Amino acid sequence: MVLPLTRLALAVAAVLVAVPGNADARLDDGTRRPPEARPAAAEAVDRAPRRAPRRPAVVWRESRPLGVPWAGRLLRGVLLPRDGAHFYTWNPVHRRSPNPAWRRYGTDRLVRLVLAVVAAHRRAHPGAPRVGVGDLSRTHGGDFGPRWGGIGHATHQNGLDVDVYYPRLDRRERPPDHPAEIDRRLAQDLVDRFVRAGATKVFVGPSTGLRGPPGVVSVLPAYHDNHMHVRIAPASRIRTVGLGRSHRGRPIRAWRAGTPGSERKALVVGCIHGNECAGIAVARRLLALARRAPVDLWIVPDLNPDGHARRTRQNARGVDLNRNFPVGWRARGRPWDPEYPGPRPLSERESRIAARLVERVRPDLTIWYHQPQRNVRIRGRSAAAARRYARLVGLPFRPLPTPSGAATAWQHRRFPNAVAFVVELPPGPLSRAAATRHARAALRLACPRCSRPAT
Ligand SMILES: [Zn+2]
Ligand SMILES: [Zn+2]
Repeated sequence: MVLPLTRLALAVAAVLVAVPGNADARLDDGTRRPPEARPAAAEAVDRAPRRAPRRPAVVWRESRPLGVPWAGRLLRGVLLPRDGAHFYTWNPVHRRSPNPAWRRYGTDRLVRLVLAVVAAHRRAHPGAPRVGVGDLSRTHGGDFGPRWGGIGHATHQNGLDVDVYYPRLDRRERPPDHPAEIDRRLAQDLVDRFVRAGATKVFVGPSTGLRGPPGVVSVLPAYHDNHMHVRIAPASRIRTVGLGRSHRGRPIRAWRAGTPGSERKALVVGCIHGNECAGIAVARRLLALARRAPVDLWIVPDLNPDGHARRTRQNARGVDLNRNFPVGWRARGRPWDPEYPGPRPLSERESRIAARLVERVRPDLTIWYHQPQRNVRIRGRSAAAARRYARLVGLPFRPLPTPSGAATAWQHRRFPNAVAFVVELPPGPLSRAAATRHARAALRLACPRCSRPAT
């Protein structure tokens, strides 16, 4: 299944498409590939006329950001040239141009984005000075703290962050020493362009008066009155894993998000009772938020697609999947009873799929979404985590026992150290804000290392 491109990928594509004569633009930026390193794919670049490229070329390669900006590394980083037709680089430690090469490595996507934005900015404002670009990441990423000079960076660790100096009113090619020296019109234009190009964060200083969409452009109290800090999201590498099919043959899938292979594992199931599926919206938000969070995150948006399609609690055979697990199971009732546990434990394809996945992943944390009771519920050793989740989303916590045959009860017995609990969402569809709140809470619990400094 082809997942939607990230906003960033779309935006970058849009930028590249929107810049006429892209190959020329790259030449202007001094980003021509060196003759000895030309793969056949660079034909379009090669055919561009050779002019004025005495500047060093960009050696493009597919980079990989590892971890997160505040705890990460950079694989196969791309070196931003020391300068170009539309930008100069600036060393914030020695306060001079250019910035040394070891401070100028980013992912290929970040370098492309910076080059595209500064070129488009200069084309739109022919009189504008070249844009000052400060630190990206170190050659292989990693710590960029004070021992690397100056006040250092808490982030800039995995090739997704770049500092860009505000243009000066006097057009000198150096950072403004005071906010009054900022050309706000040009600075705002740069902010706007980075946002349109898909930056996920643009941090600006409190005295700059710069603005943008809330959640993307934010004011930081310190250090950003001479530069903006731009962050992009890594390319999405979400993998869809087919887990099997429902009784009626509908595919049941997991999205594997975060950082596959991380030691920390988490599982989120958006829907198990077919008429309680608001959690699918949480699953989607979580997928978008998790990105490269340092957790091996498995998201099953819909474990009961047959029930979902017919809007029944049970699956297509009239079985309550959340009473079908092999824990305290006993025969009772008949199909379509509200809590019919099935003819035997794990009699249903859907519950077998879930059990197999849990055995395979062995999640440290599992969250099961239900509706409509507005609480977070569990008893026993998972209560502390559930309580925390409840606090984060503003729902009451209820220390209720798990029914026999319930997935959480089975998990507790099968993996005594793992945490599993149930979130009962309110009735009806979730607002986007609520879905985001729940996804954030799930991520906080799934990934304790995900809380972070801002820049
Ligand atoms: Zn920065
Ligand atoms: Zn339920």
